[in-house]
Amino acid sequence: MLTDGCGRRVDYLRLSVTDRCDLRCSYCMPTGFKDYEEPAHWLSFDQIERLLSVFARLGMRRIRLTGGEPLLRNNLTELARRLAALPGVEDLSLSTNGTQLAKYASRLKAAGVTRLNVSLDSLDRRRVRAITKRDVLPQVLDGLEAARAAGFSLIKVNMVALAGTTDADIENMVAYCMERGFVLRLIETMPVGATGRDAGYLDLRPVRERLRARFGLVDGVVPGGGPARYLVAPDGGFQIGFITPISQHFCATCNRVRLSVDGRMFLCLGQDNAVDFRRLLLDGGDDAAIERALLDGLRAKPARHEFNQQPDRIVRFMSMTGG
Ligand code: SAM
Ligand code: SF4
Repeated sequence: MLTDGCGRRVDYLRLSVTDRCDLRCSYCMPTGFKDYEEPAHWLSFDQIERLLSVFARLGMRRIRLTGGEPLLRNNLTELARRLAALPGVEDLSLSTNGTQLAKYASRLKAAGVTRLNVSLDSLDRRRVRAITKRDVLPQVLDGLEAARAAGFSLIKVNMVALAGTTDADIENMVAYCMERGFVLRLIETMPVGATGRDAGYLDLRPVRERLRARFGLVDGVVPGGGPARYLVAPDGGFQIGFITPISQHFCATCNRVRLSVDGRMFLCLGQDNAVDFRRLLLDGGDDAAIERALLDGLRAKPARHEFNQQPDRIVRFMSMTGG
């Protein structure tokens, strides 16, 4: 079992397979951003498999493929197949913006991906275009339908709540997810990079009470629900999670680390501490050296983010860390 210096069990790795993206969500990447990591610095599939086989042996049980937009990485389904087959890996999931999902959903399922999170902030086509800078709502909705048809049992829709914009779309999104059996999660913006700071933070606590009254929801506990606090329909047919890193942070139960496309393991989304696994591999590090670097890194995992105290601190965008 892997534990960090604060005694927290860490069994969840978010793996960024690319920092590139076909969208420019207002809270994530600046319009016109092109300052991507050099492909020569990307971890290869072999390097990823090598690192994760050691991590999994030590107790990293769950892996999420993310980015940037993970479906932009060539042959992602091949990587998924290799990671799903690693001894010790119990769950392989994917976070996507959904633009390529119609094409890949069934291949991902066949490769061993068990759960999908799809980011969608509104059902209003113009609003989605304004947030993402592309007219992608029909594509994303097709992707969600393809995921359902492919037989994914758990599909979560991740919606970033923005004051004055998507706030007004939340009730529509609840109805859409209720009808289709999707779990909805509302997310508060985090001040990572200037985009995250300027996005229009919305405190989700009043939203939760508003939705509780409007839809007759009650507090619920959802196994494997991660950092979200849930409301559920009394008949259990609908679940909505609130991810509130700012208004009610959940660092005391943090169970995750993030590996970037260039092999740096970030120990906290809101801090700079990192372990450079690509450098270690290039220097000829063996499995024992990988194990030592992981265990030493976890001992140094920060106790919590400081978004409220130092909102200007983190300058890397979410797409660089692997949100
Ligand atoms: N491109 C994929 C997607 O959009 O799902 C995966 C990567 S994206 C960085 C992962 C998640 O981070 C998305 O749900 C997105 O909404 C969220 N995100 C990005 N920037 C954020 C910010 N500043 N605050 C909170 N969430 C953010
Ligand atoms: Fe791309 Fe996801 Fe960031 Fe939007 S949130 S710009 S889809 S990486």
